[in-house]
Order: sequence, then structure tokens, then C-alpha cells
Amino acid sequence: MRETIVSGMRPTGPLHLGHYFGVLKNWIELQKKERCYFFVADWHSLTTEYAQVDVIKKSVDDMVINWLAAGVDPERSVLFIQSEVPEHAELHLLFSMITPISWLERVPSYKELKQELKDKDLSTYGFLGYPLLQSADIAIYKATAVPVGQDQEAHIELTREIIRRFNYLYKKPIFPEPKTLLTEFPKIAGTDGRKMSKSYNNCIYLSDSEEEANKKLMKCITDPARMRREDPGNPDVCTIFSYHKLATSEATRRQIDADCRTAAIGCVDCKKILIKNLTEELAPFRERRKKVKKEEVVSLLHEGSKKAGLVARQTLKEAQSAMGLGFSV
Ligand code: SF4
Repeated sequence: MRETIVSGMRPTGPLHLGHYFGVLKNWIELQKKERCYFFVADWHSLTTEYAQVDVIKKSVDDMVINWLAAGVDPERSVLFIQSEVPEHAELHLLFSMITPISWLERVPSYKELKQELKDKDLSTYGFLGYPLLQSADIAIYKATAVPVGQDQEAHIELTREIIRRFNYLYKKPIFPEPKTLLTEFPKIAGTDGRKMSKSYNNCIYLSDSEEEANKKLMKCITDPARMRREDPGNPDVCTIFSYHKLATSEATRRQIDADCRTAAIGCVDCKKILIKNLTEELAPFRERRKKVKKEEVVSLLHEGSKKAGLVARQTLKEAQSAMGLGFSV
């Protein structure tokens, strides 16, 4: 049976290699077999960017241009903007009636993100409730599977708990419990070895030209203990080697691993191999990216939001009715 998949991306800045390898390649595989809903999570952006909303508007078009260039196909999948389908917000409200606050407070990312984004005031109702909004995003399409990185697993578990509670309280199995599909590349390091993030200024962006990207790769940190060419290195702690896992064949990687440990290869040559492979991998994407027009994006998001709205409205009616609302239903 086909799975129903829901996955969103927050428009909070330009997309980088992590999005391409960690999310988009996975979406493209999923859309071959499953029924997919991919959305621009603009309400989710507001949970952290409510004080600088310009970035949201600026990021939406570019983000979806990258989706299309990577091969996300609007003929196979429904692509839409979350805020264009207000049923998400109403289901979020309904779920909020049955969700104990302690369930939200114990979500690990709540404390971690608050700590990580110390410069922002995240003591808001919206930020505490964002995993619940995620649950509504998933449930409104009766999703059966959700692709996430390890750091988001707890959110899907919370979704299952809320769905179980809803179905139990109202004695109607309206929502299926979605399973977690762990993504193959949950985390990608930035050029300085830390998590790839625009706030660390260590990203290789999908909008970077080939030259810009290659320049960043040539400057990228390697094994910090390998000071001289003749020192043996350790690929396990090297950011460049972690990128090889994205674009280089297993046989070549094995060779590099062995040559690095015996200093048979230097970091400059190793980076050149990576650049060649990564350039080949990204060439079709870069070509298509030049051709996607902004007007195309606007019209397909509009159409996609209409399609998503039809499904979301039907589910919402069922939820309203189960909760004793919707007198015309
Ligand atoms: S040779 Fe390659 S894997 Fe080894 S430290 Fe240098 S860049 Fe990293």
C-alpha cells in the first residue's frame, strides 16, 4: 500500500548542501512510490523569526526553486504553503485542547533550541507549541509516515501520542499513527566542522556558483591534528571526508581512508577529488536551477495549496464532528 508522506521545510534563509543531501534527495526517492505532501513551513518560521519576518518572504521562492531544480515534481507530489491552508491552524487549536503542557515541555528540542538560539526570546506560546503544530501538519493529511532526522524523532513520537489520545477520547480512529522514516544523512557538518548553519557562516549554499562552492571547499577544515603533508591523518574526524560520503564512490572512499592514514595522499589532492565528484553530482541541479522561473513557482504553489486544502478540509470536518463541533456537518 502507498504511504502518505508529509514533510515541510522552514523558509528561514538560503538552502545549503545539508538540505540537498539530507532532505531533497530523500523527497525525490519518496515521491517515486508514495503519495507526498511537501510544504513551505512559514508558520513554523514565525516561531523563531517572528521579530525579523523579512527573511521568511525572501526565502520562499528561492527555496521552492531549489526543490524543483533538485527534481521534486509537482506532478507527482503536492507542493504548497502552510499558511495558505488554514485548516492546519484549526487542527492545531483542536489538538491544543487535549495536549498536556508537560508533553510539550519535555520535547528535547524545546530546551536545546532555546539554549542554541539564546539571542532570541523564545519564551512564547508559539515556540512551545510548535511540535503540536507539526502534529497537526501531519495528521491533517492522515499521514502514515514522516521522514525526519534523529533530532526530530521525539516530535513524531509526540504526534503518535496525541493521535492515540484523540482517537481514544472521541472513540473514532480518524487519524492513523504515522511511522518515522529516519533520513540517511541526518546531519552535515559546516566548513568549520560545526553543524552546517547560516548563523555560523559555514554553509555551502545551493545558490553558490561552482566557483564559490569550490573556494569554500578548498578552505574547509580537515583533520585539525594533521599539521604537515607528511603527518598521517584521521578521516573519521575530517569534514572533507564526511563530504566524500555524499558524493564519492565507496571504493574511492576506502582508498582515501587508507591513503590518509599513511599520509599517502595530501589534503589538497583529497579536496580536488571531492570537488570533482561534487561538481558532477550537482551539475544537473545547477543547470535546472538556472531555468526555473519565479512565476512558475508562484502558480504551482497556488495550485498545490488548493489541492492540499481539499484534503485538509475533509479531515478537519471529521475532527470537528468527533469533538462535537461543526453543526452543519
Ligand atoms: S587527506 Fe582527506 S580525509 Fe585525510 S585529513 Fe586530508 S582532507 Fe581529510
